[in-house]
Amino acid sequence: KKITIAIDGFSSTGKSTLAKQLAKHLGYIYVDTGAMYRAVTFFAMKQGYINADAFDSTTLIASLPSIRLHFEFNAELGFAEVFLNDVNVETEIRTIEVSRFVSKVAEVSQVRAKLVEQQKEMGKNKAIVMDGRDIGTVVFPDAELKIFMTASASTRAQRRYDELVAKGDAVTYEEVLKNVEERDYIDTHREDSPLVMAVDAIEIDNSHLNREEQFAQVLEMVND
Ligand code: C5P
Repeated sequence: KKITIAIDGFSSTGKSTLAKQLAKHLGYIYVDTGAMYRAVTFFAMKQGYINADAFDSTTLIASLPSIRLHFEFNAELGFAEVFLNDVNVETEIRTIEVSRFVSKVAEVSQVRAKLVEQQKEMGKNKAIVMDGRDIGTVVFPDAELKIFMTASASTRAQRRYDELVAKGDAVTYEEVLKNVEERDYIDTHREDSPLVMAVDAIEIDNSHLNREEQFAQVLEMVND
């Protein structure tokens, strides 16, 4: 039986690692919705609609129809990469600069409405693992399995810091921790679809679980 699996939670809780692993194992499609918000943010930065001093959300809203997003599976990487107007932006969207602005962009209701609509469409035929912040609450309220991942802010910041350093980004741990905490705050306090655990979601705190333990735990739930 094909089902819909919604994985939500705070940033850097290992959502995407788990979601990718699950999708691969089950032969499901995996969709990283954070990549979509990041791609819209990258677009807004490139157009000069957002920077450290200002955010022209009105102009961003007006240009939403000219933003086209799609995913293409990369067999070598084992997951689908995101394309912004037919250009692969997978690398560009993972920088700390994009992380700095993405929560602001994700607060805009019109941005959310556009992306949620596309996400619902992608999940129409089930057999999908989608990760984000509002998948179990807004995108797929009827998902058969909903997971909510948590981990302490310091655990998450360390993880993100290690990733960025491995890529060669010049960041400090403090900077990354500050970004993680800021995004948590904005994500949980925004007016439209704030980050909350769905009432029927199962919480997994992975501060003390390794990847294999976590995967085994969720696979059991899928098979139940
Ligand atoms: O998952 P990731 O950390 O890449 O997401 C980046 C940001 O996009 C989040 O901090 C959040 O502000 C926003 N987001 C969202 N709703 C989603 C996925 C991501 O608001 N479903």
